[in-house]
Amino acid sequence: MKYGRVYNFSAGPAMMPESVLEEIRDEMMNYNGSGMCVMEMSHRSKVFQQIAESAEQDLRDLMGIPSNYKVLFIQGGGTLQFAMVPMNLMKNGVACYAETGSWSKKAIAEAKKYGTVHVVASSKDKNYSYIPDCSDLPIPEDTDYFYICENETIHGTTWQALPNTKGHPLVSDQSSMFLSQPCNVSDYGLIYAGVQKNVGPAGMVVAIIREDLIREDLDPHVPIYMSYKTQADNDSMYNTPNCWAIYCCGKVFQYLKRIGGLDEMHRRNLEKAKILYDFLDSSKLFHGSVEKEFRSLMNVPFVTGNAELDAKAVAYTQAAGFENLKGHRSVGGLRASIYNAMPKEGVEALVDCLRKFEAENS
Ligand SMILES: *Cc1c(COP(=O)(O)O)cnc(C)c1O
Repeated sequence: MKYGRVYNFSAGPAMMPESVLEEIRDEMMNYNGSGMCVMEMSHRSKVFQQIAESAEQDLRDLMGIPSNYKVLFIQGGGTLQFAMVPMNLMKNGVACYAETGSWSKKAIAEAKKYGTVHVVASSKDKNYSYIPDCSDLPIPEDTDYFYICENETIHGTTWQALPNTKGHPLVSDQSSMFLSQPCNVSDYGLIYAGVQKNVGPAGMVVAIIREDLIREDLDPHVPIYMSYKTQADNDSMYNTPNCWAIYCCGKVFQYLKRIGGLDEMHRRNLEKAKILYDFLDSSKLFHGSVEKEFRSLMNVPFVTGNAELDAKAVAYTQAAGFENLKGHRSVGGLRASIYNAMPKEGVEALVDCLRKFEAENS
């Protein structure tokens, strides 16, 4: 690859489109005639305001975000949202959660600090290798929201159909699938995504929230920064935002518009994932660890069934120039994260490498 870059299969932070990195490089010393790098600019300056406004508008265009939703750029990553969601949305102090893996478990543990959490569905019985049926669950009347992690980064599962929330607002953690496919925003009360998986640099989350869920009557102990109302009233600039991340994400939004939007991105992601899953399904050595129907397009965990051979395969791929294929310790084996910016050629080259490993080890 150009610049001696490698195919990086990291679960996050992860690859960004090369053309975007080149644009950022070209604008590094002097952004658009301003005489400054974006990192050096006041967030209140006209030039930065323009960057932030365009980023929001481009995201709105990409996802078709309805006008009764606010788009917020908040710091603290995905993790801060585990607390911000219950702090802001628990009016009755009650929420339903689906437990589909490590990330939803963390969100559940955090929510329990603020109210009653009903874990109404779980796939724990099979080490989170599937998505439980949520089409007709008993949901308490006073539930403030229903929470899911829509793509479990560690376990490699994704929801094929959204849960039936019986009229309650749906909250979705889309961190590891954000902008990977079209999304009907009006199905949700709140979508949030830490951007370092599928969009830009770490340290920022995009939250898309339906306006009627933004409350004024929060517990006075809620930190001012952690109120969605504060963020919305101040256009995400109550304090100094992560200007650099907003700028880089804005570049990626423009890139996605240029290539044909989320339909085209989805087509490419389906094509890439098929290459890897087809290999795993035909391999006698490796197999995917997720039930087929719930396989993620973004995170692909796979194992040989022998920990020593798994470790050997990880070392083999690394020696061949493929980075970060070691699986998460809770699943073991290998994991290839093939987010938006991973080129098809990267997946093809990885499959060639795994095929070679299989031939040498069977
Ligand atoms: C990575 C990740 C998070 C946490 O994001 P941070 O920015 O590290 O806080 C939350 N949810 C999911 C699904 C993730 O993949």
